[in-house]
Amino acid sequence: MRLVLLGAPGSGKGTQAAMLRDSLRIPHISTGDLLRAAVKAGTPLGLQAKAVMDAGKLVSDDIVLGMLEDRVAEQDARAGFILDGYPRNLAQCAALEALLDRINQPLDVAVKLDVPNELIVERIAGRAAAEGRVDDTPETVRARLRVYAEQTAPVADHFAAIGKLVTVDGVGELDEVFDRIVAALPA
Ligand code: AMP
Repeated sequence: MRLVLLGAPGSGKGTQAAMLRDSLRIPHISTGDLLRAAVKAGTPLGLQAKAVMDAGKLVSDDIVLGMLEDRVAEQDARAGFILDGYPRNLAQCAALEALLDRINQPLDVAVKLDVPNELIVERIAGRAAAEGRVDDTPETVRARLRVYAEQTAPVADHFAAIGKLVTVDGVGELDEVFDRIVAALPA
């Protein structure tokens, strides 16, 4: 199964992706995690990405695509994968489709987690306290929500237009949301 998880920051994508990884036994590929690892390792790419991430903006498409291509080429991704945080705009969406075409592994489904904005702001405040992410300040969260509405929401529209989008209610207990996602996956 090759699936993309879509949803605003704080919609629970990361948590649900990890649960799906354990249940479907396919890797969870988070471009945010890949970037945070590069920042932590202090690679040139990480240094370049850090300021952009701290501001809640999108890292350049080239950088992220390069990281994604490397990760998708790894052995464990042959069985499928759960993409979390990619694609974030229509250009990334086209790049993903081209990449998957090239390796003859088309996407099965895009799952969008629907969570109202008020709840998202609350959840991110909780996460900021628990994890201390630099990009979880109220100001940055607002920037990230704006980027989502302007650049990432059209990606969901694209997947809807090609008949690959399922939308799942992301409000509720983790297990409830997880069950809804599993029920919405193609057979
Ligand atoms: P996330 O963990 O998915 O919320 O990502 C955290 C931050 O990493 C984002 O706010 C962006 O700055 C950067 N990032 C993650 N994925 C992407 C992507 N696909 N394209 C551009 N920037 C990204």
